[in-house]
Amino acid sequence: MISGETTPGTVVDGVHRLPSNGIKIIVIGAGVGGLGAALECWRKGCEVVVLERAEKLSPLGDYFTITPSALTTLKDYPSMHADYHKCIYDCSVHVYSPSGVPIYSTYPEWRRAGAHAAYDVTVSFLKRRPVYAQMQLDQLERLGVSVQFGRKVVSVCERGDQVIVTTASGETFIGDLCIGANGIGSSIDGFDTGPEVAVQDSGYAVARVAFPASTLKPDSPAATLMKNIDVQPEFRTYVADDVHLILFLTRDWVAWCFTHADDGETAESWGNLKDPDAIIPLIERSSDNWDPAVLDFVRQTPNRVVDWKLRWRDGTEQWTSDSGRLLRLGDAAHAFFPTAGNGAVQALEDGVSLAECMRIGGKENAGWATKVHNQLRFQRVSVLQQTGFLNREELHHVDVAAIEENPKEVTVGFFKIGRWVWNHDPEAYARDNYAACLAHLQEGEPFSNTNLPPGHIYVPWSLASETARMKAGVKSSLKQNGDWSA
Ligand SMILES: Cc1cc2nc3c(=O)[nH]c(=O)nc-3n(C[C@H](O)[C@H](O)[C@H](O)COP(=O)(O)OP(=O)(O)OC[C@H]3O[C@@H](n4cnc5c(N)ncnc54)[C@H](O)[C@@H]3O)c2cc1C
Repeated sequence: MISGETTPGTVVDGVHRLPSNGIKIIVIGAGVGGLGAALECWRKGCEVVVLERAEKLSPLGDYFTITPSALTTLKDYPSMHADYHKCIYDCSVHVYSPSGVPIYSTYPEWRRAGAHAAYDVTVSFLKRRPVYAQMQLDQLERLGVSVQFGRKVVSVCERGDQVIVTTASGETFIGDLCIGANGIGSSIDGFDTGPEVAVQDSGYAVARVAFPASTLKPDSPAATLMKNIDVQPEFRTYVADDVHLILFLTRDWVAWCFTHADDGETAESWGNLKDPDAIIPLIERSSDNWDPAVLDFVRQTPNRVVDWKLRWRDGTEQWTSDSGRLLRLGDAAHAFFPTAGNGAVQALEDGVSLAECMRIGGKENAGWATKVHNQLRFQRVSVLQQTGFLNREELHHVDVAAIEENPKEVTVGFFKIGRWVWNHDPEAYARDNYAACLAHLQEGEPFSNTNLPPGHIYVPWSLASETARMKAGVKSSLKQNGDWSA
């Protein structure tokens, strides 16, 4: 039961669903964002259908970061909550020089603080992306929510209070609201939610792959990296000149991600697979001094490797159509650079916030509810998008020689996330701020978001301003703006 809500609904698979509010929602895209929004909107009494262009849930991808603010409603899905807890990677985090000198070791901030927004969840800092999406899909199936694969949406149009969605095969779906959770690089005719997002190549790419830990030879140098894994999974970042290499070390799956200069052979696609032999020499060449165990680890990669072109994207303030009946969500609204570590987290927060706004607004005000959600979320997401720029800069400009000389003197801000990020409850925030935000939108009443670092003064930025700053070698002061402490 949602606090403040007194009408009993139904219970399916242990999930308390509010009575139907009559709102029909069509979600485009069965990524983590679309599936999360479908779950939350269903729980709040909406009727939901998800349309996905792929024939089945994609097995592609390795790990992503899921921090507590993305998990605040997991407790409302008891069987999914149990699935989540079957596989926890409660990693410690470490920074190393290429030769293997430890620079910095810690636990994620919420673990050190001992409390966080998802108070009853044992937070797994890292989750395997296909496993997480399957967990969401299984829950939707148990709830009887329709997720239809092989349905590529080609156009959307608004007619009166309705939205008509058409797939490539000519099928049409009619709803009150359409959520475009279709990720990056997928445009749909008629999905008119403001200006196109400006994109620019960053000059970097990330090669990444996951594989079963059992494929590592037991007596090999790589196996020495795994010696503490049964007790403590590890997230290791090796920093070298203008590159960084991340190793995920867990007892069942391991992975590596190598951020390197773009050689022109990369693509922004999880399907851009390469033979590991095409990438391994780039790692070897990036330092004369690699720890042989690390090189052995990457050389033992049994699978093909994704080489993902990294592109900067502008933040976009408008996520809805003029009527509010079309809404972009997740990466489609706000793509993240991987060094922000927030793509999946913010997509999941979006779903929770949107569903609560729909509950409060109801069918009559569905168009306003999406606009309130947009207003409540934009600045928070925009600040986090910016961290992708500065985290990458920090990781690529560490003075490795100085560190090896004096490891204790160095701190790496990459792991400084801030309580304001992981202690945020998007459902409570939407509930507590909906009315004031609506009055702001409708009547111009004053309203300021408080889901930012305390004391933060929001400064609009653009792709042009960030790239000019980086080019001029000016350090970002973002993490000095407001309270980013843990
Ligand atoms: C296959 C895959 C693997 C990934 N692996 C990783 C990873 O290892 N690590 C990581 O950090 N992030 C990964 N990501 C990205 C990460 O999941 C997202 O950044 C984040 O979770 C936000 O999710 P999203 O749902 O907004 O977007 P996405 O996860 O990109 O999902 C968008 C979905 O929309 C579907 N779609 C697009 N256009 C249409 C259309 N016209 N009609 C119907 N459906 C459409 C796509 O097929 C996709 O399933 C991956 C994404 C995908 C799709």
